[in-house]
Amino acid sequence: MKLCRVGAPGAEIPAAIDAQGAIRSLAALVPDLGPEWLAPERLAALAAIDLARLPLVDPSVRIGVPVAGIRQFIGIALNYRKHAEESGQPLPSEPIVFTKAITSLSGPNDGIVMPPGSEHSDWEIELGIVIGTTARSVARESALRHVAGYCLANDVSERHWQNFRNGQWNKGKSFDSFGPIGPWLVTADEIPDPQALAMELSLNGERMQASNTSDMIFSVAELVSYVSQFMTLLPGDVIVSGTPGGVGMGLKPPRYLRQGDVLRLSMDGLGTQTQHVTMAGR
Ligand code: ZN
Repeated sequence: MKLCRVGAPGAEIPAAIDAQGAIRSLAALVPDLGPEWLAPERLAALAAIDLARLPLVDPSVRIGVPVAGIRQFIGIALNYRKHAEESGQPLPSEPIVFTKAITSLSGPNDGIVMPPGSEHSDWEIELGIVIGTTARSVARESALRHVAGYCLANDVSERHWQNFRNGQWNKGKSFDSFGPIGPWLVTADEIPDPQALAMELSLNGERMQASNTSDMIFSVAELVSYVSQFMTLLPGDVIVSGTPGGVGMGLKPPRYLRQGDVLRLSMDGLGTQTQHVTMAGR
């Protein structure tokens, strides 16, 4: 099942994608797709709905963040072998974890707005993991039971703020618009193996990142289990699970986003994103 939220920012309605790929409004049945709707029994109730009987939504509608009221947005660093190499870093012995502000969350096709004067804004295609049930100290073997589903994500990163402004990567990861996720929350039953998803990111039509979640150092199950050892994961929380090689910082010479650039991202089963890049104040 593919769930989404559509409409103007702050006024989205819940929706689902039918078998023909059309958007069907769930507004008459569900107040909004908040964390409480990610529980297995609620998702099962949604899956039982005959979407063909629900109103069609104009396909040109804006698509928002697929889950309302997300409380925690967590990033994993250097989780692909090639990206760790291009960053000049040793392979991590344990996952490297950082946070992104929830205010950075944005719709999949909303523009990326670089902070004023930014010369080092960068792209990172990632698999987003959406938590369905509270996970506290869960074992790797049972971790996937706490996952409601997956979404495509771009962990947009301002490298100067991330690396040269005295610590804590969240400085470079948290600007408004730096967390496009979606278009859909794809429930876990549609993604039987989260470690077999091909992905690709292009900049102005030129392929920059192309990889597969099979190259992850720490698997989805390992990441959920690991993070849950030191913090409680809540329904709706999103973990972006690291990016493969091909980010701008790793190119020789490095290449960063410029006003007018267009990013296009896609991942098996999770849809596509298109983002136009602008700079604040321009
Ligand atoms: Zn990242």
